[in-house]
Amino acid sequence: MPSGVRMLAEFAAMVLLHDAYFYWAHRLMHTKWLFRRVHRLHHKSRTPTPWAAYAFAPPEAILEAGILPVTALLLPLHEVTVILFVTHMIVRNVIGHAGVELFPSWWLRAPLLQWITTTTHHDLHHSHGGYNFGLYFTWWDRWMKTEHPEYPSRFMAVTRSTCPLKIPAKEKSNE
Ligand SMILES: [Zn+2]
Ligand SMILES: [Zn+2]
Repeated sequence: MPSGVRMLAEFAAMVLLHDAYFYWAHRLMHTKWLFRRVHRLHHKSRTPTPWAAYAFAPPEAILEAGILPVTALLLPLHEVTVILFVTHMIVRNVIGHAGVELFPSWWLRAPLLQWITTTTHHDLHHSHGGYNFGLYFTWWDRWMKTEHPEYPSRFMAVTRSTCPLKIPAKEKSNE
């Protein structure tokens, strides 16, 4: 396989694996015992800012970093793939904790893009800890019925209030 294609395939596999790893590790961290000892520090940010993205207690940092040895054991990884993966992880984490919605209002209506988590998705996790455990994608929360029931309406509310110029013309006429 050409190295570029191979690296993209490795990157996609790493992201999918990390998303599953994070969802289940995150649900585990929300059990009472682990929450108090491992995850509570991260949830001190009730209204997150980008600084919260990597604000973890040391035990959580170890758990979060565990994805790298796990993927290295399961996949043959090129070093550039690992750099791509870590860069993507930081960018997505900062977006999730941005404090303002960065995605456009039509995002949740796009057939494929709606599966990608938004800032509102993770923000709702910080304000309502029992929902939205996912990292990169929304599918685990949908399959496990842990997606916040008001996620679509909250997303529409914030995108319309912060970016009114981005409302599609046909929807403007309904308001
Ligand atoms: Zn967070
Ligand atoms: Zn959490």
